[in-house]
Amino acid sequence: ALRDHADEGAGFVVATHDPDVIAHADAAIHLRNGRVVSEAATQRGPARPATTAAPDAPVAVSANGVSKRYRRGSEVVHAVEDADLTLQRGQLSVLIGRSGSGKSTLLGLLAGWQRPDEGSVAYAAGASDPSRAPWHELAIVPQKFGLLMDLSVRENVALPLRLAGRSAGPVDPLLADLGLTELAERLPTEISIGQQQRVAVARALVVAPTVLLADEPASHQDEHWRNAVWTRISAAAQAGTACLAVTHEADVAGYAAAVWEMRDGHVTRMA
Ligand code: ADP
Ligand code: MG
Repeated sequence: ALRDHADEGAGFVVATHDPDVIAHADAAIHLRNGRVVSEAATQRGPARPATTAAPDAPVAVSANGVSKRYRRGSEVVHAVEDADLTLQRGQLSVLIGRSGSGKSTLLGLLAGWQRPDEGSVAYAAGASDPSRAPWHELAIVPQKFGLLMDLSVRENVALPLRLAGRSAGPVDPLLADLGLTELAERLPTEISIGQQQRVAVARALVVAPTVLLADEPASHQDEHWRNAVWTRISAAAQAGTACLAVTHEADVAGYAAAVWEMRDGHVTRMA
């Protein structure tokens, strides 16, 4: 629609890291470290490792016939309809679907943040109520990050270790891998939204969780950091975590051992 309006004579400036958007533009102004540089290149990152877990890897979580409806006055939204999904240890699964298809609601059901109207969610770890699972069993990257605004970047990342009563964990390697070392003493309000998102990813992985639920964990990343985020999540899967990542980036399926598609509340296993 912006392109159409531009063709009719309107002028737009769009701030983006999305090469698809750049492909629609008449001109690209490339910023790096706050400076305008003349190039408009978007270079593809390093080759991606696919996670290859054994098909008989133990099931960590399963959703069995879960449905969730939202009621607003007389209107009923069928956000999730009779969905079945299993997550296995050591696998990265991705859940792909358009905006509004029910992905975040399904994640909320798996996380125990929402209660299903029908069906059930079962955790192999034994926690019948996932909302009470500690972070080392169930770590989440919420769509809006959920960072604690009074804590520094480093303190946010280290928080699950504190809550688990652990003194040591891979805080520094995670900060380094996700480009946060130089920002470690800043508050979340003092870094960009993409950097905040990477703090949420680092925080989720610091305890090597049994299960990771990540809601569009690379949605604010450029090509380089998108690769870094998916590489780090793939590494967690290879180390044994059952990972589910919601995304609408279809190319992420290349990282995944299982691909689930969501359409109007219905879930189908694609690969
Ligand atoms: P996605 O994450 O795939 O974009 P969501 O799970 O957020 O989708 O939403 C699925 C559907 O449920 C959408 O139609 C959305 O508008 C609706 N929805 C989400 N949250 C609420 C709510 N709290 N009240 C009413 N409708 C909601
Ligand atoms: Mg969502």
